[in-house]
Parts: sequence; C-alpha cells; structure tokens
Amino acid sequence: MTFESLQLHPSILSALQKSGYTTPTPVQAQSIPLALTGVDLMVSAATGSGKTAAFMLPALQRLTEPSALSKSIGPRILVLCPTRELAQQVGKAAITYGRGFKRLSVVTVVGGMPYPAQLKLLRQPVDVLVATPGRLLDYIDRGRIDFTRCEMLVLDEADRMLDMGFKDDIDQIVAALPAHRQTVMFSATFGGAVGQLAHSMLTDPTRVELAHQSDQHADISQHMHWADDSSHKLRLLDHLLRGEDVQQAIVFAATKRDADWLSETLGEKGFSTAALHGDMPQGKRNRTLTDLRREHIKVLVATDVAARGIDVPNISHVINFGMPMKPEDYVHRIGRTGRAGRTGIAITLAMPAERFKVKAIERFTTHLIPAKTIEGLEPRFKPEQRDTRSRGGRPPRDGARPGGSDRPRFDSDRPRFGDRPRFGADSPRFADGHRSADRAPASRDRAAPPPRDRESGAARKPGGYGAPRTFSRGRPGE
Ligand code: AMP
Repeated sequence: MTFESLQLHPSILSALQKSGYTTPTPVQAQSIPLALTGVDLMVSAATGSGKTAAFMLPALQRLTEPSALSKSIGPRILVLCPTRELAQQVGKAAITYGRGFKRLSVVTVVGGMPYPAQLKLLRQPVDVLVATPGRLLDYIDRGRIDFTRCEMLVLDEADRMLDMGFKDDIDQIVAALPAHRQTVMFSATFGGAVGQLAHSMLTDPTRVELAHQSDQHADISQHMHWADDSSHKLRLLDHLLRGEDVQQAIVFAATKRDADWLSETLGEKGFSTAALHGDMPQGKRNRTLTDLRREHIKVLVATDVAARGIDVPNISHVINFGMPMKPEDYVHRIGRTGRAGRTGIAITLAMPAERFKVKAIERFTTHLIPAKTIEGLEPRFKPEQRDTRSRGGRPPRDGARPGGSDRPRFDSDRPRFGDRPRFGADSPRFADGHRSADRAPASRDRAAPPPRDRESGAARKPGGYGAPRTFSRGRPGE
C-alpha cells in the first residue's frame, strides 16, 4: 500500500514525501481509509507505531475542504493528549504533515505555559487545537473557545488520560463539543474504564486492533540485571552507559526527586545529563527536550509521565533504574527506543525486593526478560533463588536481607532512592517483620498543582501491579 492509494490530498502527500515516508505503517494503513469515511474509530496501537499520522492525516484531509460554518473561528479538529510533551509532539506533527497547506493554524494548549500568549492564539482562527484536558477545560470554563465548527475529536492515549484522573475533565470537554462530529480514540487497551468511555462518546465505532502490547516492540531487545541494592544499580548503570553502543539513553527514575538526584550523580560522573519531570517549569522541560534532540544531552533521566511522547530517533537505550509504577508503564518506557523502524535496547535493573514487579511485567507482556550479568558486577543475590520468597518463603540470607543493611548509605542531604516497592498492609514482610515501605509516598510527591493548571487529573487511580492496591498511592512523577 502507498500513501497515494489512500487518496490523500496532494498537499498532504507532498509533506509526507518531504518527511521521507514511503509506506504507511500498519496502523496507518488500517486506520486512515476508515477515518477518511468519517466513522468513529477505536484504535489500539503502540506508541512509536506511527499513530499520530494515523489520525492527523485524515484530520488534515478534512481541512482541505472549507468549513460549512465560516463565521466561527474555533478549532475544527481537537486532539486531547494526556501529557504536555505528547501534546507538543502532536502539535509539531500537525505542522509537519500540514506544511503543504497555504494556511494552517495549529495551536497547542498545555498547562505550565503563560496564559496571555495562549489566549492570543485562541483569538485567531484555529484549525487544529491540541490540548491537555486540564488547561483546555480552564479555557472552556472562561468561555474562551468556540467549538461550534469542531468536526473531529481525537483522544490520544485515552487509557493514559483515564489513569491520570482526567475522566471528569474529558466528560466536560466532550459535553462542550457538537454532538455531530467524528470521534477517534486511541488507546493501548479497550477494556474496563476505557471501554466505558468509548461507549459513552463514540457512535457505533469501528475497531482497529493492532498487535496487543505483548506483541509490540519486536525491534527492542530486552534484558535485565539483578542488583543487590541501589548502589549496585548505580554501578551497573554507570557501566552500561559507558557502552560503545550507547548513542543516547533515557534512564527512568521512580520519582521526581530520584530523577534529579540521578541526573546530578551521573553529571558528576562525567555524563552529559539532564532530568525531566513534572516539577520543572514547562520552558525548562521544552529546552531539555530540544537539547536531547540536538544531542547536547546523552542521558536523559526522566519520570514516567514526563517521558511520554518523547520521540527522539537516536535513543538507543532505555534503562529502568527505578521500576515502573505499573506493568503498562514498562511498555511505554521501552517504546522510547526502537522508534521509526530502528532497533533499541531496553535494560531493567531490579533488586531482589522488586522481583514481583519483574514478574508482573513478564506476565503483562507475556515475555520473559532474560537476566544477564556483567563481569565484576555480578549480584551476590542468586537469581535462581528468586522463587523462594514468591512461594511464601523467606528471602535469601546469603548476605543481608534484600533492601536491608546492605542498602547504600546516603548522604544525609541527599534524597534517597524511591525505587523500593511501596507495599500495602497485606504486603510480604521481610524476615524481621519489617515492611519495605518505611516512608509514605505522599511525603515524596509534591502537592497537587492548582485545579485546572495541572497535567494529571483529580486523583490518580490506584492500580499498578495488581497485587497490593496501595502500591501506586500518590501521583506518578509527572
Ligand atoms: P508515532 O507513533 O506517531 O509517535 O510515530 C513514531 C515515529 O514514526 C515518528 O518519528 C514518526 O515521524 C515516524 N513515522 C510515522 N509514520 C511513518 C511512516 N509511514 N514511515 C516512516 N516513519 C514514520
């Protein structure tokens, strides 16, 4: 199949040609012809699969015809994204794919950016509006956006938006849109709450299901290293990042503070690094991403939410230093490498106490993550002993208890790592009856931003690895 055979407008075809795209990706080949007919769609596709063009090209095709409502200046296409970075990425894609248009106004509205500049843009005719729900709802409440000519709504990463607590915001936004519109929803899964959301806002949708998450990322080689403790993780990380095959890497930390700490520590070790997380001003986040793209940064240390939407083809490695909050996050994390048809390497560093998370990820992806060792950096912990505790036995005693006295000693003025699991009341105990969660997550997470100017919704849903429900208390490091 070619883009020409999809009967896209010549101005879109010329933009695709300039982008060097020759063939539609599977999600594009399946979704674009359907979307062009105007039907509602539910598409499950992975990040990195070319899903942005899958909805943006049909959206732009609509714009090649004038709007029937010429008096309105409001957006004709609305795209909702869970995070600022993803929204900005999508906004850029709209400009790239629409560069053959004589006139195309793409406005991106996200939290953390000054209001006056955004309001100025919204006072002019808008073709494509890309937004995160919180800030958009703010403008809707203030009566700053006229949706009368909105023809198409795209919900990108709908599962993620629900995870982030945006359900009520989405409902209110959709209530402000014309009932007669095309709605296209992208999500990794369509079960549970996402299915209900789709049911409530899509009309007789056609489903396009690409490979399940477990089948994705065939171009990404995955393995793991067992680490005795956090300082061992740090030594492994240092070694891995010095590998000749590392072009650029994203290292994932469990919390914002860990991201700052790790970035600083790696900087001291001579790496060109930067942190990316939700406590940083948006301007700084944008500059960091630009520096990453320009290869001024070799190692980006990021939290989960901040890293979503990062599309930097040169990322050769993703390293999970802190374990992801939920197994799905693992899939999103590793999808930061192996982009645009390239190959990538995803490495997870896990401590004995984190083995249940490794197992949950393996169950979720239905792939075993092979463990490797590095000469001189082998774990004292014997991986084959890892099943002992899952059968209710005690942790191995060939040293100290996991996460116990052999934990690294931290300087008192330094934040501690947050990658130890946070168990709930029904969590497994260590041999001495001590629970691993000795610090309340709330103390590590900053207060929620003021209503509306936020990047995640009212409350993060509990969930995570399914076992202890309290595991994902608090907010992710957005
Ligand atoms: P996405 O999943 O939309 O984030 O896209 C992932 C990457 O694939 C981006 O860098 C796109 O520029 C690239 N891409 C999208 N569609 C195509 C295509 N048909 N051919 C080549 N690259 C593409």
